[in-house]
Amino acid sequence: MGRCIYLNGKFVNTREEALISAYDHGFLYGDGIFEGIRVYNGRVFKLHEHIERLYHSAISLMINIPMSMEEMEKAVVETCQRSGMDNIYVRLVVSRGPGDFGLDPRKCPKPTVVIMADEISLYPKDKYEKGLKVVTCSTRRNRPDCINSQIKSLNYLNNILAKIETVKYGADEGVMLNDAGYVCEATADNIFIIKNAKKLFTPPAYLGLLEGITRDTVMNIAKELGYEVIEMPFTVHEIYASQECFLTGSGAELIPVIEIDGRLVGDGKPGKHFKKLLDAYQKMTHSQGVPIKSATVSV
Ligand code: PMP
Repeated sequence: MGRCIYLNGKFVNTREEALISAYDHGFLYGDGIFEGIRVYNGRVFKLHEHIERLYHSAISLMINIPMSMEEMEKAVVETCQRSGMDNIYVRLVVSRGPGDFGLDPRKCPKPTVVIMADEISLYPKDKYEKGLKVVTCSTRRNRPDCINSQIKSLNYLNNILAKIETVKYGADEGVMLNDAGYVCEATADNIFIIKNAKKLFTPPAYLGLLEGITRDTVMNIAKELGYEVIEMPFTVHEIYASQECFLTGSGAELIPVIEIDGRLVGDGKPGKHFKKLLDAYQKMTHSQGVPIKSATVSV
């Protein structure tokens, strides 16, 4: 126990058994989609939102997922239940499936569905307390009219190129701009800044960022806490001049940024607004979600 992988209808418990074909177009061409979902205290957080986004990505790519959304939700819950864990990172991947050489999707009659229930630690624990040092990357985010950023596809080369820069500069994370020079997001997380006390800014999705489910959750929490939430294009200058900055994502959760391009954000420590939002977010993640214990075992 401690890991469970659903592979096209079967369950396995080791990485070594979780094998797919080298002819899978997910592997050959990055032709596929994915989701990263969290389970806290035995509850799948925002399950329906993730499954909905997955199916929307599938519609765009014309991948016919061989199960309904309800069946997919059940499969996620069951995989989690079989892992025997209560705090889980779920990686759900649907690829075009095994086929022949050449891009033609008709060569792949059956999509591959993989659900991995495992652990995750994106950043070392102390980064959550002390904050991240980030740099602005020269790699620009994909233009949404070339690859729509709402398709959460297996093609992450744009982000990986930015991550390579981040690593090369010795930073913890990278900020990606869009082709017009506006702040888009981090390499795989959304970005927020706080200015003028209770004003929370985040770039609008049309700039070419993924509309993160955590981003949406944080925006709603902030509104409830009395913050003014503003989706507006801004440049790195606004981050330099902000009081606080933080990143959001299902894997990363909420993580503070304390330095960007050698400049301190605020006083260089995680801010009080960040802590307030994190606290509310954690309360929500630990009390809401689809329970995995009541799932029926169907295989
Ligand atoms: N942007 C990108 C490019 C991502 O890959 C992700 C997910 N890691 C996010 C933002 C955050 O999205 P979510 O909050 O839905 O996990």
